[in-house]
Amino acid sequence: MAGYRFKCKDIGMKCDFEVRHASSKDELMQIAATHAKMAHNMQTIPQDVAAKVDSAIRQD
Ligand SMILES: [Zn+2]
Repeated sequence: MAGYRFKCKDIGMKCDFEVRHASSKDELMQIAATHAKMAHNMQTIPQDVAAKVDSAIRQD
């Protein structure tokens, strides 16, 4: 099954969080945003972090 993947580690976080099988980039970003809020205390994702996340997204 195709899906989008992302690992916090890929943007330099010391964190084992990983998103797998997201059906779209939008869905992945939503999951990542929720994680960032809970785990990294980011109420909103800064532009530079969003750009890093975007370039770290892999597609199966
Ligand atoms: Zn994380």
